Amino acid sequence: MFLEKFYPKKYVRSIYSINLKKYYKMGYRGILFDIDNTLVPHGAAATDKAINFFNKLRKIGFKFCLISNNKEERVKSFATAVDAPYICDAHKPATKSYIDAMEIMGTDMEETIFVGDQLFTDVFGGNRANMYTILVRQINPKEEFQIVLKRYLEKVVLFFYVRRDRKKLRKEKKQYNKRRLSLLMKKNKKKTTAK
Ligand SMILES: [Mg+2]
Repeated sequence: MFLEKFYPKKYVRSIYSINLKKYYKMGYRGILFDIDNTLVPHGAAATDKAINFFNKLRKIGFKFCLISNNKEERVKSFATAVDAPYICDAHKPATKSYIDAMEIMGTDMEETIFVGDQLFTDVFGGNRANMYTILVRQINPKEEFQIVLKRYLEKVVLFFYVRRDRKKLRKEKKQYNKRRLSLLMKKNKKKTTAK
């Protein structure tokens, strides 16, 4: 379906519910982050919690980069606080900044994760750049009209995303039960022929 290009690989409540160590074990080495409403509320300074989060990333061994459509003034001050490289005026969903960010981190698309709160800019761009995309629930519900409208459309896409997941899970469960049943039947058959 055409909506799939907006689907994240994973949808989480916040950056703090991302299982970082698991992704590192899976071979991921670089993470790109949107800032506003992903790491902190729109326009807010870095919190201690956010600073600690970046220290944790560093400790695990991740490279990271901030990638924001916001202006230099805003992005630079946040990046300085968490001590991270950054790209401002990124023009997401255009893929150029995603590729530039990978160059900064020294990673390729198979080992890079993108984390952001918007489907039509963040996730869409990450998917176009062939990265693993994680959508986080936005931190601040108070937003400009433009974004509110986009959220509305995002909800429509998320509805199909969640429904697809349920359908897929149901199908997998059915297949599993079928396999299990045929295995049991084979076992029973063996028993009866052995007698
Ligand atoms: Mg954002």
